[in-house]
Amino acid sequence: ASPWPQAHVVVAGIGVSGFAAADGLIEFGARVTVLDDKADQANREKGQLLEVLGADVRLGPGATAALPADTDLVITTGWAPTAPLLVVATRRQVPIWGEVELAWRLSRPQRPVPWLGITGTNGKTTTTQMLASILSAAGLRTAAVGNIGRPIMETVLDPEPYDVLAVELSSFQLHWSNSLSLHSAAVLNLQPDHLEWHGDFQAYTAAKAKIYHGVHASCVYNVADPATERLVEEADVVEGARAIGFTLGTPGLSMLGVVDDLLVDRAFVEQRRDSALELAKVSDVSPAAPHNVANALAAAALARSFGVPATAVRDGLRSVAVGGHRIQTVANRDGVRWVDDSKATNPHAADAALRAFDSVVWIAGGQAKGTTFDDLVVRHGSRLRGAVLLGVDRGVIADALARHAPEVPVIRIESTDTSAMAQAVAAAASLARPGDAVLLTPGCASLDMYTDYAARGEAFARAVEDLDESGPRSG
Ligand code: ADP
Repeated sequence: ASPWPQAHVVVAGIGVSGFAAADGLIEFGARVTVLDDKADQANREKGQLLEVLGADVRLGPGATAALPADTDLVITTGWAPTAPLLVVATRRQVPIWGEVELAWRLSRPQRPVPWLGITGTNGKTTTTQMLASILSAAGLRTAAVGNIGRPIMETVLDPEPYDVLAVELSSFQLHWSNSLSLHSAAVLNLQPDHLEWHGDFQAYTAAKAKIYHGVHASCVYNVADPATERLVEEADVVEGARAIGFTLGTPGLSMLGVVDDLLVDRAFVEQRRDSALELAKVSDVSPAAPHNVANALAAAALARSFGVPATAVRDGLRSVAVGGHRIQTVANRDGVRWVDDSKATNPHAADAALRAFDSVVWIAGGQAKGTTFDDLVVRHGSRLRGAVLLGVDRGVIADALARHAPEVPVIRIESTDTSAMAQAVAAAASLARPGDAVLLTPGCASLDMYTDYAARGEAFARAVEDLDESGPRSG
């Protein structure tokens, strides 16, 4: 018998995945209480819907202060373990699952659709989109879900059947998972991020490591990032599972890599010892920057582990539409290229963007989340024409620049309201010379000043456009 009709489940947070979790739990017969401290218009509307379905919804300040006495299970959607409600649940030994864990458990008895999982510090969304595109090109019924913006719970409730899911998993989601055993999984790279949430890099790494637990086909790792290979070596996988590497160089056995501008597979071909199967051209990857070719290889490895033919890899990579705000040129003016890489929310992502340009006016700042910028500045100081810093942690980056690249001119934008980006863009224009790129690659989260990275990127593009109209034009 289903355990759910007896259960009282508290859903902490009424965001997109909290809503999906509550909806699913009600469907499975559980008694559901939804708590959220925010009672804005959007939350109230979602709350009303869930009340109609039978949930007890409590919104507004103080709503998450107390955990109902008879709570059997708490579902969280990415809250930090230090959140008071979760501290209380832990003390009372009430289990806490993420929405991903819930989706996994609810879907297992009924429809065990295989999951191909992707995590890493950067490239998750892009790689998940590539993977879903490749799987579709192979004629498989699939969806890109998870941290990418579509809760996995939606596929559990969906009457449409799926053959396989491309699942983006964040470190938060993995932290709150404990029984996943995926078909195959990839850790793309591992660099400091979200340290405030996890406590330290070790805890962040431990969360990422959970994606390999119980894998039964392939654990995909990045040859250039030995930390990812170490996680595979330490993983508790199903017997027979393979470690598959991806590399931008010539692949060894059990690897995918690049030979003569071709993406090739030496892992899933069983013919001769020296054989390699051509999957696609490097130019089929867009943009064909090295970090993105690595993403494509990881996606190809996961798809191949599921038996997808080489032609589908090529077709899927050619047809994928990758999201904006990722090294996206928004204007070319007077010899200066303006580039929106607002999605670079940690130093490792900013590193990938900075290395793509020779001479850069760098716009950076926001929430640093406990990371440091010293390595980044040491590596790229010499290519900086100047730096424009904004946001709450602008001082963290200014200090790193002062320490390691004191010759780089720095302009700090002190206002933190909506005028800040226009000021930053004007300052960048004053520093830029023909041939330069003005690159918004903040290396920081956007939430101090914007609703998300997209809003920050749009503010940038707008300010660049306005500059076009109002600014003095040379040449
Ligand atoms: P995520 O979902 O992990 O945040 P995205 O695909 O959205 O990853 O890309 C985030 C940022 O990181 C973008 O600025 C992008 O240009 C950069 N990026 C993408 N793939 C990589 C990679 N493999 N290594 C480093 N940076 C990357």
